[in-house]
Amino acid sequence: MRILITNDDGISAPGLYVLEKIAATLSDDIWICAPSEEQSGAGHSLTLTRPVRVRKHAERRFSVTGTPSDAVAMALKKLMPEPPDIILSGVNRGANLGDDVTYSGTVSAAMEGALAGIHSIALSQVYAKEGMADAVPFGAAEGWGERVLRPLVEAPIAPRTLINVNFPPVTADKVKGIKVVRQGFHDYARGSVVEGTDPRGYPYYWFGLHGIEHTSGHDTDLEAISEGFVTVTPLQLDLTHRPSLALLAERYQQ
Ligand code: MN
Repeated sequence: MRILITNDDGISAPGLYVLEKIAATLSDDIWICAPSEEQSGAGHSLTLTRPVRVRKHAERRFSVTGTPSDAVAMALKKLMPEPPDIILSGVNRGANLGDDVTYSGTVSAAMEGALAGIHSIALSQVYAKEGMADAVPFGAAEGWGERVLRPLVEAPIAPRTLINVNFPPVTADKVKGIKVVRQGFHDYARGSVVEGTDPRGYPYYWFGLHGIEHTSGHDTDLEAISEGFVTVTPLQLDLTHRPSLALLAERYQQ
């Protein structure tokens, strides 16, 4: 089994090494192609307005001066002589839960893989304080990574779908188990814009996302994470809201 690993935290991110260790329990045919710099929040963007450079760090280990989607596309179209059987993206530093997934470079790298018809899985480690290092940053991912991945890599996954995995912010021994759940919904108001003044006296603004409080119903990723479960959520690339097709079509009928 050939595995391609990528992420959105960059080629030097600690979570990439965590994922390499997890992947090594599944295969010894591992390729790495990740952004050269952190790309958290890049979403599913593709670099179109400037050239992209590739750096070879070692055999089967590359970085790309672009987004996570650039890295996956570069690996598939230019760097790998044969396509991978599986793409793993992560382990992200921080949650990718609920409706945050479209902001996520980690999840979007898996979307890019799914577009190419490859079995793709995004993995994220939720932090107790979002984005901050704490005492057991990747403990749950390290302890549960193989257990959650082994059934997934063998599972049939529908075309144009990907799998989003999140590990709760607790040590591995405190994890309650694995739950397959749907996406929850965040409270949009938890996002903030912090205003400050730069050293030259000009104002700047900084977007922030705070907390992982779940605000939606039962059986969601947000609820399961808050209860200490590893979450597994299948996502689809087709965003069409089917019930609205007929309702909108009626509006254009004379
Ligand atoms: Mn990230």
